[in-house]
Amino acid sequence: MNKTICLLPGDGIGPEILAQGVACIKAVIERFNCAIDFSEALIGGAAIDAGGDPLPRKTIDACLAADAVYLGAVGGPKWDGLPMDKRPEKGLLGIRKALDLFANLRPATLWPELAKACLLRPDIAARGLDLVVVRELTGDIYFGQPRGIEERDGVRTGFNTMIYDENEIERIAKIAFDLAMTRRKIVCSIDKSNVLEASRLWREKVIEVARRYPEVRLTHMYVDNAAMQLVRDPSQFDVILTGNIFGDILSDESAAITGSLGMLPSASLGEKNPGLFEPIHGSAPDIAGQDKANPLATIISGAMLLETGLKMPAEAAAILKAVSETLKAGYRTADIMEDGKKLVGCREMGAEVVKRIKQA
Ligand code: NAD
Repeated sequence: MNKTICLLPGDGIGPEILAQGVACIKAVIERFNCAIDFSEALIGGAAIDAGGDPLPRKTIDACLAADAVYLGAVGGPKWDGLPMDKRPEKGLLGIRKALDLFANLRPATLWPELAKACLLRPDIAARGLDLVVVRELTGDIYFGQPRGIEERDGVRTGFNTMIYDENEIERIAKIAFDLAMTRRKIVCSIDKSNVLEASRLWREKVIEVARRYPEVRLTHMYVDNAAMQLVRDPSQFDVILTGNIFGDILSDESAAITGSLGMLPSASLGEKNPGLFEPIHGSAPDIAGQDKANPLATIISGAMLLETGLKMPAEAAAILKAVSETLKAGYRTADIMEDGKKLVGCREMGAEVVKRIKQA
């Protein structure tokens, strides 16, 4: 039976960038003579406009029936006035929950062709930046109980609970070690075990899981040091494994230092259900419908989908090679434009990548 990708174009630039990502996957299908089916469903503002619900049951069913989910972006000012539980972003949180996606993978790669965009000193950037943050997504202080604001001894007091059980730590650690085995085989686990009990258990359990991966070198770092090391020398990192709140902050930091929001992909994975693959940026309503969006983050997310979601590494590599060649040939959308390069729109950038996938 053919594998199926469920497409969720969403809002703003979502449909424009996803169309280019799909064109690249179709080019790969043609070149490698393989077969993949596509289904499509509504999410976010588009789903609200069609039926009042940012995540219709039909969309959840279409995602569950697929082998991987490929998303553009959701949200926009048109729906900003709606109550929180009716807003487009609720659709995205809802689908992550419905698919039980507990692991968020965010690669941060500095494409040599875009080195000038990097926010780091040139001598630091020259050492390279090619890491993946593996962030636990469904536990930690964001979900821990008890939580609230109450009066204690006449003083209003806010409180949250940082909590992880060993099963949660084990399943996210396995994702990080499995990923490291496909890369440079280094895992750096980030915690705050000098202060927090939840982190002490985290570290113990990660060490236990590491015994099953003798080829992987495991190091540990406190989160405050990690935030500093990411700007001092990010070349030391391969796979960063961390909990929800530390990962929230560190994955944004690692993405930001590459300087190119329009280039960064992400994957959210679970144990049984299909993974969800999407660019890290939002729906960019300021440029929607103008053919100005950079489709490369979505196209690179498509390569992640093929590699991680459908286990098609050769097909994924063909997309990444075509992206690199397109950048080498000097094509740039406005967000990554430099003097002397060729300014193109979303459609032309996608077409240049498609052309190079087919040529190889
Ligand atoms: P944003 O990422 O959409 O845009 C930030 C800036 O980056 C804008 O100037 C935009 O034009 C630019 N930009 C983003 N992607 C680009 C691309 N591919 N090419 C060129 N330029 C690009 O963030 P925002 O403005 O804070 O949010 C806009 C909407 O997107 C909001 O409704 C927000 O809730 C939503 N959002 C959705 C997701 C998601 O779907 N995963 C993530 C973040 C924000």
